[in-house]
Amino acid sequence: MSLDQAARERLVRALADAMIQHADELTSLDQAIGDGDHGLNMKRGFEAVLATLPGLADKALPEMLKSIGMTLVMKVGGASGPLVGTFFMELGKALPDAPARADLVAATDKAIMAVKARGRSDAGQKTLLDVLVPVQAVLAEGGDAGAIAAEASRAADRTIPMLAIRGRASFLGERSIGHMDPGSRSAALLIGAAVATLVSEANS
Ligand code: ADP
Ligand code: MG
Repeated sequence: MSLDQAARERLVRALADAMIQHADELTSLDQAIGDGDHGLNMKRGFEAVLATLPGLADKALPEMLKSIGMTLVMKVGGASGPLVGTFFMELGKALPDAPARADLVAATDKAIMAVKARGRSDAGQKTLLDVLVPVQAVLAEGGDAGAIAAEASRAADRTIPMLAIRGRASFLGERSIGHMDPGSRSAALLIGAAVATLVSEANS
């Protein structure tokens, strides 16, 4: 997979649009089991990323991903900034300029390990890892774009009955059950946007 400058810019815009358009939804999810800032956090972070265009898309894919990650770490308050930022930075560190699927599998695995280390967390605790881990498994099994996007959305839904044991939602104990994890929803939206863009680039 090789993305030219225009395609890299479309990818960045698609990720940012997903966060900006769904900010209210992410905020209401976070109002239910957190402090109600997740939509604003992600929107602010990706607006800051958009502000680094077009120079951002002049960079090769790995450098571009690292730069997105650094902007998110710097601009997003809350737990999600360092975690989502770490994911993008580590993905950038691990990927070659024109990654094949095996490169993507290896790089997403490394990026997930870095998120786990940073959050002292693992899948099963009602966090964005409950989307990243199963989606990475589908990628590693050879699932196509449709399977990856479908798993992202289903994985976010599967956080609804989970008990939160990391992040602010864990303060609610049993009352965290019955609500979708906001970070899982934003992760699913970002994955959906990335997949949709990469599919349309492949077909163009
Ligand atoms: P904050 O919780 O600081 O208000 P956000 O509301 O922006 O930050 O993000 C909350 C999301 O961050 C949660 O829904 C969860 O998915 C994720 N999260 C929080 N803490 C952790 C952690 N320790 N490990 C992994 N993900 C986490
Ligand atoms: Mg919050």
